Parts: sequence; structure tokens; C-alpha cells
Amino acid sequence: MFNKILIANRGEIACRVIKTARKLGIATVAVYSDADANALHVAMADEAVHIGAAPSRESYLLIERVIAAAKQTGAEAIHPGYGFLSENAEFCRACAENGIVFIGPPVGAIEAMGSKSAAKRIMEAADVPLVPGYHGEDQDPALLKQAANDMGYPVLLKATAGGGGKGMRQIWSEKEFDEGLAAAKREAMNGFGDDRMLVEKYLTKPRHVEIQVFCDQLGNGVFLAERDCSVQRRHQKVIEEAPAPGVDSELRSKMGEAALQAAKAIDYVGAGTVEFLLDEDGSFYFMEMNTRLQVEHPVTEMITGQDLVEWQLRVAYGETLPLSQEQVPINGHAFEARIYAEDPNNDFLPVTGTLSFLQPPEENSHVRVDTGVLQGDEVSVFYDPMIAKLIVWDEDREKALRRLGKALSEYRISGMTTNVDFLYNLATCEPFQKAELDTGFIGKHHEKIFHDGEADIASATALAGLYLVLRRAQDATTSVSAQRDANSPWNFSNAWRLNEPHIHQFELELMGQNYPIVIEQLGEGCAVSYNITAAGKTVRAQGKLNGSELYADIDGYRSRAVIAEHDGVYSLYTQESALQFCQAQIDLGDENAGAGEGALTAPMNGTIVTLLVEAGAEVEQDSALLVMEAMKMEHTIRAPAKGTVKEFYYAPGDLVEGGSDLLDFEKAEA
Ligand code: ADP
Repeated sequence: MFNKILIANRGEIACRVIKTARKLGIATVAVYSDADANALHVAMADEAVHIGAAPSRESYLLIERVIAAAKQTGAEAIHPGYGFLSENAEFCRACAENGIVFIGPPVGAIEAMGSKSAAKRIMEAADVPLVPGYHGEDQDPALLKQAANDMGYPVLLKATAGGGGKGMRQIWSEKEFDEGLAAAKREAMNGFGDDRMLVEKYLTKPRHVEIQVFCDQLGNGVFLAERDCSVQRRHQKVIEEAPAPGVDSELRSKMGEAALQAAKAIDYVGAGTVEFLLDEDGSFYFMEMNTRLQVEHPVTEMITGQDLVEWQLRVAYGETLPLSQEQVPINGHAFEARIYAEDPNNDFLPVTGTLSFLQPPEENSHVRVDTGVLQGDEVSVFYDPMIAKLIVWDEDREKALRRLGKALSEYRISGMTTNVDFLYNLATCEPFQKAELDTGFIGKHHEKIFHDGEADIASATALAGLYLVLRRAQDATTSVSAQRDANSPWNFSNAWRLNEPHIHQFELELMGQNYPIVIEQLGEGCAVSYNITAAGKTVRAQGKLNGSELYADIDGYRSRAVIAEHDGVYSLYTQESALQFCQAQIDLGDENAGAGEGALTAPMNGTIVTLLVEAGAEVEQDSALLVMEAMKMEHTIRAPAKGTVKEFYYAPGDLVEGGSDLLDFEKAEA
């Protein structure tokens, strides 16, 4: 076996490969960019080599730097992971030229599958079933249109050089064809510098089912069952599972044999995935072959009990495949959910930020978390915003799915918007439980998967309000510690208003909006309960705080939540969802409001963005005085009354701690 390998990747897959290498006693070398100097994969590897600046074009995609790092450290082989250089024929060739083993297929196989249309021609010759379509060299628009007319609409235009769902366009009638073709070509040219197109029959309710194949250098090949990756957004996978629901052993063998035929047609070696579209009537069509380890390989590992990275290393070293086809087991059912820093309510756009709190569910024989980040790490603009892959296993689909829901409800992340709630809704919705899968799943069940905003806000504000009032009561009884804790709601003198002893009013900032809350205390001591009015609704609430746990009873509905607090921003996790809130600066419009003199304090740690008036300025009540930014949200500090701003204690750009005095304010004589 190899003594030392280099991993030409980052994040979870680099960590994943290092784990197996360690298990096999192989030394590891990581490579890293400026942005990854403190990354987990670097810490895990035995050695690490800096290869350049943060943008991947200037580091992870630089073939000569990666090769130089391997030579410098004496690595005998390179594992490319997925993405980056993993399907780059030039890189594969450079490895060979430098006497380094590329842990992947031979260069010819990568080249054969590099173009979608060329791959289809090879598959056609090898009798692998294809979606009816045109994948010729002649790109005359009239010819493409004729092909579409002949096969009947709808059709799908695909960039032959495409990937990641880009450069694809559905055309529903002949009328749309010319315009659609022009648009698809523009997109392909921008994305891949190549606007050649293929035309395919568009299947309206297909499933994406792919076969994991493995071949060694001695001519043996096996398939390790299939994965269903039908749940997609923007043609990208969201939840994958194995085996595919409804695929019986007969269909599995048929698809597996076709996949092996595809692999043999290009003299494949190593781990590969043959993607098929599976139609409702059980026919399946070759889509493409990925010549690398896939993101979703763990679901196959869970049901077969095999370590596919170990298989890759053995095969690359020249060993025979560990199992024959008959020996490949299939046990139980596995799911993988991809946890992303992205906003499902904003077209799944990636978001960035610092993982200020990160608590994955506990790992055990049913739950596995593959990740490359730790609490405190940054999700930056430079790389894929995947935070982790959550993988679960159980003896059947129903049990495994229950585990997925539970594990998702235990996944706690703050510091940025993630898709965890969205995944939970998906995993627990009825159509998914019934495995009514096709690639249009998310669009079709939109209402079930996306939250009902208004209901959410009402219950979120009630829970947040209850938490803050309980925390305040708790801090009041331990006022010494409260004084030391700048973020305690007790110390938010400017954000709380006590009209009368038993009514509290303040504003809550939730999902970028401020919500006024009124909490009326009913009763005393043990019998205390509250009427909480927010977002147009009043609820009766009671609860108990136990460290970071909140036991809430809201209108008779009892639930438990966990709260984490960072820099004045609270993250509250319930079974169904996670929400982040903070106390906003209260609008002290009321004459009776006690505050109004002296210093105004920062509601949380943050940065001063701008000062809106000059020192010495006379201002009206409610005038905006300065803007602070914290957690990417802006907070305006306003004048509590008519008066004079005597002095600002900070300038724009200054960092301030929550609770610090911001300015000296003198109230005007009445
Ligand atoms: P990419 O390489 O850009 O990811 P693929 O060819 O792998 O593109 O297709 C991605 C997804 O697009 C598939 O998983 C499937 O959901 C959808 N798709 C592709 N071809 C068809 C087709 N002919 N009919 C219907 N859906 C398709």
C-alpha cells in the first residue's frame, strides 16, 4: 500500500479521505489556500503545504502547485476528492508525467466522459439506453429544431460541456425554440466557453437514479447498488438515499449491468457513478457518468458496510476489488442531507458568515456527520457553502427517515442562514415519507416544505418573548452576575420599558424586522404566567429556564427549546426550526419612559457604521443618531427624547462591545 498520499482538496471530502488513510496507516499531506490556513483538513493531515491565495483559481486549481507539493513531500499518490481537479484530464496526465499515481480513472476515461454528447455517442455504441435525442456534431440551428420537432415537445437543451445544472433549458413548444436556443447558448458560452448543444426528450416526471460502479486494474467490475437523488433544487441534489425506493432486484441488476457496460466501454478504473433518469414505466436512460467519488457516496457505504475511499486506494495501488458482485451486501436504508449555508427563502442563494455556534447531532452507528468545519470557522465566498453532510442509517426506509428528522432537529448552527429547517420540513412531509419522488418534488410540494411565514412569526415571537422575560426574571434574582453580563436583557436599560411593574414592552428583531412585544405578568412566584402580545396575537405563556433549555407552555402547547447566545444575538432551536433574534433598540416614544438622559448603550457587539448627526446637534425625539452593524444587520440608535447630543464616544468603523455607552445625551428642558 502507499506510504503517503496527498489530498488535492479541502473541506469535508479532504477530511473524509484523511480518515480512511489514517485507518490504513497511510501518511497524509494536505494542501491549503490563504483562506484555509486554520482549516480542519490542514489540522488533520500529517503535513500540509500552502499552495496559494484564497480563490481556487489561484490555489486548488493550480496543477503545477499541487504537483510540486506532492513532490516536495514525497507523496506517492494524489486523491483529488470531488470538484476542483477531480475530473481534469490535464491534471491526471501531469500526475503520470511526474510519476505520481492519480487516485481515479485513467485519463482516457475522463476525456471520454468530459463531453456530454461524445459520452452519449460512446454509450449508444455500447448499447446503453439513452434518452431519445440528438447529440451530433452539426450544430445548425435549423437541424437542432428539426430534431426537437421530430421527437416532440417538451425537449431539453443541454450544453454538451455543461455541468452543475447550468446551460440547460426546457422548451415546451416549437414557438419557444429559437429564443430558448439562443438563451441556452449564451448561458453555455458564459459558463463553459463552449456553446454546443444537445437536444433531449424532456421527461416530465423522471427520477434521478444513479449506480455506483467500481473497477480494478485487472478487468474486474462491480456495481454497489443505486442511489435515488431525485430531490433537487435547480437541478442540484438536496437529499439522497439508498437503495432507491421501488427499485427491485431485477431492475437493480438491469441498471447495474448497463452501468458496468458503460464503465467497460471506456476502460474504467476506480470509483465511478453512472447517472440514469428512471421513467415512471421503469425504463431508464443514461444521462452521464461522473468519473470520481460522488458527494453522496456515504449512503452507499452505509447500506453496503464498505469504505469506498479504502476501495479507491486499494484499486489505485493495483489490488483486486475487495468483493465480487455476489458478495456485495445491501442492508437497510440510508439518507444523506446536504447542510448548506444558503437561504431557501431567497432562491437558495448561498450565504456567508462565521459559524458562531455549531452543534451537530451526536454520531453513533445510525448517525454520521461528514464535515470539514468547526465552530468559529468561516463560510466564505471562495468555496462551496456546504457545511456538512448528515447521513443516517436504519433497517428500513421508515425508520431511517425518522432518524433523519430527529438528527436534523438536533442540528444547531448559528451565525448564518442555513437550509436545516428546510431539510427538516422536507424529510418530515408526507409525500417524501411516501416516497412520491421525482425531480420536480420540491417545486410540486412547495407549500408543504416552505414555512407559513405568519404562523411562524407569531409562535417565534411568543417563544422569544417568553425566553427574554424568564431570563430577565432569573437575572433579577442573581443581579450580581447580571451586572457583569453585558448581554443580559436586564442590562438593556434602553431596550426595556416598564410602564408599570407588571408590563414589559420592548422590540424584538427577528429575520430582519422589528416586532413590538408587550408582556403582561400575571401572578407572582411559582404561579407566574404571562400574556404575550406580538405580531397581532396574544398568547398565554408559562415556562421554566434551565441553563440553556427553555421549557415553554404557550396556550397549553408544551415544547422544549435550546437557546444559544452570542454577542447579544440569540439562537433558539425547537424541534421544527431554528430562529435567531435580538432585542432591538426600543422606540421610546412614550413620555413616561424612564430613560432619556445620559448615555445610550450598544445593544450588542458590533461596528459603528455611521454617525448621523454632529456632536452638539439638537435633535427631536426619535431622530436617528447613529447606525451600528452586528451580524450583518443594521441597528439605528435613536434619540429617546428631544435634546442634545453632547458627545459621541466612537467613530465610524470602531468596534464596540454590547452594553458600552455610545454617546452622551442631554434631554431638553420640558
Ligand atoms: P449536469 O451535468 O448539469 O448536472 P445532468 O445531465 O446531470 O446535468 O442533469 C441534471 C438534472 O437535470 C438531472 O438530475 C435531472 O433532474 C434533470 N434532467 C436531465 N436530463 C433530463 C431530461 N432529459 N428530462 C428531464 N430531466 C432531465
